[in-house]
Parts: sequence; C-alpha cells; structure tokens
Amino acid sequence: MVVKEINKYTKYGTSGKFGKFGGYYVPEPLIQPLRELIREYEKVKKNREFWRLYKSCLKEYAGRPTPLTLARNLTKISGGAEIYLKREDLLHGGAHKINNAIGQALLALKMGKNRIIAETGAGQHGTAVAMVGALFGLKTEIYMGAKDVERQNTNVFRMKLLGAKIHVVRESSMTLKEAINQALKDWVASFETTHYLIGSVVGPHPYPTIVRDFQSIIGQEVKKKMAHPDVLVACVGGGSNAIGFFHPFLDESVRLIGVEAGGDGKKGAATLCEGEKGVFHGMYSYFLQHDGQICETHSIAAGLDYPGVGPELAFLKECGRMEVVSVCDKDALKAFHLLSRLEGIIPALESSHALYYALKLAKSMGNNEKVVICLSGRGDKDLEMVIGSGNMK
Ligand SMILES: *Cc1c(COP(=O)(O)O)cnc(C)c1O
Repeated sequence: MVVKEINKYTKYGTSGKFGKFGGYYVPEPLIQPLRELIREYEKVKKNREFWRLYKSCLKEYAGRPTPLTLARNLTKISGGAEIYLKREDLLHGGAHKINNAIGQALLALKMGKNRIIAETGAGQHGTAVAMVGALFGLKTEIYMGAKDVERQNTNVFRMKLLGAKIHVVRESSMTLKEAINQALKDWVASFETTHYLIGSVVGPHPYPTIVRDFQSIIGQEVKKKMAHPDVLVACVGGGSNAIGFFHPFLDESVRLIGVEAGGDGKKGAATLCEGEKGVFHGMYSYFLQHDGQICETHSIAAGLDYPGVGPELAFLKECGRMEVVSVCDKDALKAFHLLSRLEGIIPALESSHALYYALKLAKSMGNNEKVVICLSGRGDKDLEMVIGSGNMK
C-alpha cells in the first residue's frame, strides 16, 4: 500500500498538524473519504444552526451542563488546595464519550449519511455510538475484537439492546487495534453512505480536531463557572477528555497535567511518558513500540489501554504546555475507594488515575489554590474488575 503524507506544515491546529504531529498518513483509498470529511466539517464549523442543535441535544438527551462539584471531604483530608470535580460521570451513558458521539452523529446526518460505524475496545465508545444511532435513526455497526467481546459481555449486550450490529474481529491481536483496522476497511468500501465515528482524538486528520471540538464543551463549562483555576488534571487514554477539558484554557496561566496509565509494573499504557514517535493508525504521534512493532499494553482501566495518543497531546507535551505523569493500577484503585467512601461518588477507573495524582498534588498546594479534576466517567462499569482485583476490603 502506498502511504502518502499530504499535509503541508502549516499553522498549529489549522490543517491537522500540531507542530509536527498529526497529519493523515493513510493508504490511498482513504484519502477521498477524509477529504470529504474535511470539506464538510469546515462548512459545519461555521454553521450556527448546527452548533445550536448540538448544544440542545447535549442538554435534552445527555444531561449537560454537568456540575462542577467542590469535593469538601477530600479537600479537608488533603489539607491543601481546594479540590473540584467536573462531573462527566453524570452524563447519559456514564462518561464524556456521548459529547463526541452526538456531535459526529449530527455531522453524519448533515453529510447525508444513513449509516455509522465505529470501533470499540471495552465497549464504552461502542455503547455511546449505539445510543446516538438509535436516537437519530442511523444504521449502526460496531467493530470489536473477539478478546474484548469475551471480556466485556455486558457492553456487547447493551449495544445489541440499542439496536447495533456487532462485528466480532478475529484477525491478529483480536483487540481494539485490529478493530480499528477492520472499521477503516469497511469505510473505504462504504463511505458514500457511511460515516466512521472515531471515539477519541486519534487517527488521521480531521478526526483529532473534530473530536476535540466536540469535547471542548467540558472546558468551556468549567471556564464559565470558575475564572482562575490553578491546576487542571485529566486522565489520558487517546486523550479526548483531557484535550476537551484543557483546550479552552490553553492560553491561560493554569497548569495542565495529563495522567497516563502506569499499569502493573510489567506492562502499562503510558504512551507520552514512555513511548517513541512514529506513524500508526494514520497519525504521527507517540506510540509504545519496540523494534518497529506496536506493543501490547495493559491497564486496569480499559479506556486507557491503547498504545497511542492523540497528536495534539503529543504536541502540548513536546512544547512544554502540558505536564505528563503516570499512575499505576494499584494507586488508581486507592483513589477509586477513597472517592467512593469520602464523597459518595464511584469514579471510573480511568478517572481514578487523574484523581490519585491530583490528591497528591493538592496536599502540596496552598488553601487559596484550586485543583480541578475531570471526572470522565462513573465506575459502575468497573465493579467486576475491582472485585476481581481482590481489592474489596
Ligand atoms: C474512554 C474513556 C477514557 C479514555 O478516553 P480519552 O479519549 O483519553 O478521554 C477515559 N475515561 C472514561 C470514563 C472513558 O470511558
């Protein structure tokens, strides 16, 4: 396959390049559907009616705006900075993923498509896509690795209940990585009727920009409620909740901290901390790789278990705007229990990574300072995992 790089080095963020990261390094057959998407999204960006509709769906269907909660008990025991939680866990479906799913489903309708396809790892994104597929009457098909289908049976059932068709991917690794390849293959053959609804700020241009724009509602709402936070902390899988939270604050003097999955000491998924630059899944970014092969990753949080990261986050790390740290499985579990007991909120294991680091940091800060954590999702989906980890005291 001919791999072609057709981006010019242009201004940061305007044509899919974030510094030298991003671009669309794709085989020839994907160029036409991507160009159509770029063109249509440029139009939609300026269409006020579209954004009004997007906001009204977020309000009426997903439950936005979400609260910004002061975690009083956590703040008290930390003895330092005030700790606030941006409550994406309260959204329909239980995570921030619905923001992007709604946006892209509306985009698909605008482009005259009647079918959406998506990849899913743990099934969280697949579920969000199945929900909007049902809501907007779009034919919905989800690609999922055979291993993940086995591990995440309740999510498979949820997607089926919502009317989606599941394609079980039995090729190579039989996980998310391969599900993406199969979804891309479908799209090449079907793009005239079909929109490929990518779940994070990854993949070829224009996806990292589109998904970031639809997730930026998170940071915009925080900004409306709080003028000068000192630190924003978010977990980073592909990077969509983090960049959505950070983006409206990029030009402000606030520390931005991305927290990656450190894993179990043997394997992890801390791509920005430990990865190397390369091209995979259509983008130039950081990847966990060894001898030119993409590594197998591990995290207790399924949503963080991906060997790559969005190009905009790679850029923000490289130019020093965003700090990056990693938190291991065990420490994320500690934060999971702590928030449950102290605040009556069971957080997603993904979000628990951000929580752990933010708590540590808050202790070293002054009482007049504010730390805001993006609580990307609720933890009901993780109960089995937590029980299985032998961590139910
Ligand atoms: C999917 C998921 C993530 C990771 O995805 P990003 O694109 O990095 O945001 C984080 N938290 C929750 C609750 C998720 O479901």
